[in-house]
Formats: sequence, structure tokens, C-alpha cells
Amino acid sequence: KKECYGALVYDTEEKKNKAYIARATILATGGAGQLYKYSTNPDVATADGMAAAFRAGSSLVDMEFIQFHPTVLYSHDTQRFLISEAVRGEGGLLYNKKGERFMSKYHALEELAPRDVVSRAIVNECAQLGSEYVYLDMTVIPNVEKRFPNIFNTCLKRGIDIRKDYVPVSPAAHYTMGGIATNTKGETDIYGLYACGETACTGVHGANRLASNSLLDGIVFGQRIVDNAEEILYRRTIDKDEVFNSFEPSWVLKPHGHISPQEARPLLQTIMWENVGIIRDETSLKKANYMIENLYNDLAQGESIIDYYEIVNMLTVAKIVVQGALWRKESRGGHYRSDYPYRDDIHWAKHMSFTNC
Ligand SMILES: Cc1cc2nc3c(=O)[nH]c(=O)nc-3n(C[C@H](O)[C@H](O)[C@H](O)COP(=O)(O)OP(=O)(O)OC[C@H]3O[C@@H](n4cnc5c(N)ncnc54)[C@H](O)[C@@H]3O)c2cc1C
Repeated sequence: KKECYGALVYDTEEKKNKAYIARATILATGGAGQLYKYSTNPDVATADGMAAAFRAGSSLVDMEFIQFHPTVLYSHDTQRFLISEAVRGEGGLLYNKKGERFMSKYHALEELAPRDVVSRAIVNECAQLGSEYVYLDMTVIPNVEKRFPNIFNTCLKRGIDIRKDYVPVSPAAHYTMGGIATNTKGETDIYGLYACGETACTGVHGANRLASNSLLDGIVFGQRIVDNAEEILYRRTIDKDEVFNSFEPSWVLKPHGHISPQEARPLLQTIMWENVGIIRDETSLKKANYMIENLYNDLAQGESIIDYYEIVNMLTVAKIVVQGALWRKESRGGHYRSDYPYRDDIHWAKHMSFTNC
């Protein structure tokens, strides 16, 4: 079995590469939301842990399952403000550009349908009516400003008073169901390497995480790793000289093109948003595959080493998301193919995992 002896890191304060030798190494670097032009995720959600684990020989699993949150405050920012489902749970309603409620056309639960259904419905309404957003009506919720003070204040700062105005919303990438394959103890397929939180995939979220389960996931599996890692800390010995002697500098990534990381990042985010987003098909996925490959080959290191590492990681993981989405010829949870719109349990009730050979 492969073994992990620690991590190679770049220290941003000292501006130095460093090697940490460790008996147990835990990846908890969050999801891959920044792969997309519009996301609820912070800037740091660049899939670093997934890419590092993949390079080290660990498997990534279920990567085609990306969850898009349907009601995110419309803006041109990459990182967008999420308007919680609880708003619709309390009676918030969706209207299209013509002022019509539309969710009854798509699902019996209307506004309370699953996230992927509501996201696709919004995309469909926008495409049909030539708009970039639909409206969320919260005026129907009594004391809405007290029940949702954060949403109230954020919208107010943007000139929207949720007590009387409709709020423009559209979907954005929100959660990565896939990740580094782990068992329920947080162990990866590399001895000494653990992963938890959004970067990991135990499979508990299936193809479509339910709201609020990811914080629970982080707490449960994070704690299990700590409990189990105690054993490895006592049992394992590492010979530092042997580790350093076996290290091959050729593992370190080398840039070879002319597109800077700052240029490449928005290009990748647009490719992913337009071709590997809420609705995919074979043509769009093949196009994305080709464009990502070219971007990868044309990448230059640029001025900032962190930006460079991040875009390499994003490209690495994006390629896997695209490949998984291309191979999975059905629709399930967060993965919707317009050319294979139905769930196909006979052929596809299974996971796909990717390992660097
Ligand atoms: C707006 C929003 C609302 C949400 N609401 C809910 C909710 O109500 N309930 C729920 O269950 N889930 C919710 N989620 C999902 C949940 O917040 C995340 O899945 C969860 O926070 C992931 O936790 P994590 O510890 O795995 O990663 P994160 O919380 O993303 O933490 C990852 C950390 O790793 C650091 N990091 C990343 N890369 C590197 C690197 N290369 N080197 C060093 N450090 C690195 C980051 O800076 C960050 O500190 C929400 C998510 C968003 C975006």
C-alpha cells in the first residue's frame, strides 16, 4: 500500500517551500466551488486538497456530482451571497420575469422541490424568457427582517428591501459531493493520509447532499480521524533520511505556457459554468475537455506562486469533473445530462473513481 510521509507546502509568510514529515497527514481543505464562474464558495475553495491527494496517488470519487444552490442573490461577483432554503420553507415564492409563479410546472413540491430541480427550473425559465435571474418574493413572510436578519441586511446594502421588494436570484455552484475517497474512519487509500469535510467523499451525501448535512459530516468524520490517528501516532515510525532520499524533485510541477494564472482562472471558471454546469450534454462536456486541456498546456507560472498552485489544482480537478460527467450517461442528483435525462440504475447505480497512474 502507498504511504504518506507528510506534506510539501509553500509558506506564504516566509515565502519558502517546506517539507513537513508527519505520521498522520489530514486534508481538510474544503470543496471545489471556485471551479465555477458563479459560486457561493469562498476564494479558497480551489480543490487544493483533492488535487494534492490525486497527485499523491489517492482516488477521487463521485466528482461529477456538483450541487448548485438555486437561490443566490444575483450579481456579477464570482462569489455570490446565498439566500437560504429556509426562506422558501417559510413561504418564500419564486416568480419568473413575466411575474408568473412557475415551480408547479416542474415539481409537485413546487418551491420546496430538491435543489437540482429548482436550479434547472430557474435556468429553464431564464432561457425561455431571456433573463439572467428570477425573483424570490419574501414579502409574504411575516417579520421577515427579524427571521432572516443577515439576508435582510445584505440585501438592504444592495438597495433591496426584502419587506417590500422582490429579490433577483439565480443558481450558483455550492457543494462538491465528490472528493478524496475515504472510508468511514476518514482513511484514504494511502496509509497515513486522511481526509475530512468537503474535500473528502465518504459517500454519505450520495449524488445530492441534503441541506445542513455537511457541517455534520465535518464534525463526525473529523472526530473519527482524530480518534483513529492516535493509534498511528504511537505505532508508526518514519525514517526522515529515507524520506528525503526517496524524494524526486521532478514531482514538483513545471509551467510551460504563456497564459498567466490570473488569466487562466476566470477562463476556466467560464468554461466550467457554460459547459459543465447545471445542465450538461456530450457536446458541451467534450468542448470543456478540449478547452481545459489547452488551458493546462498553455499555463505559465506568472508572478504569484499561490495563484499558480491554485490554478494547477483547479485544472487538475476540473478535468476529472468533466471526465466523470462525460462517462456518466444518465442523470442523477447534482449531475444532469440533457442527452440522458433519466436515472439509469441498471447501468449507473455505481461510483466512478479516478486514480493517477
Ligand atoms: C454560503 C454557504 C452556506 C452554507 N451553509 C451550510 C449550512 O447551513 N449547513 C451545512 O451543513 N453546510 C453549509 N454549507 C456547506 C459547508 O459550509 C461546507 O461544506 C463546510 O464548511 C466545509 O467545511 P470544510 O472544513 O471541509 O472546508 P472549509 O470550511 O472550506 O475550510 C477549508 C479550509 O482549508 C483552507 N485551505 C484550502 N486550501 C488550502 C491550502 N492549499 N493550504 C492551506 N489551507 C487551505 C481554507 O482556507 C479553509 O480555511 C454552506 C456553504 C456555503 C458556501
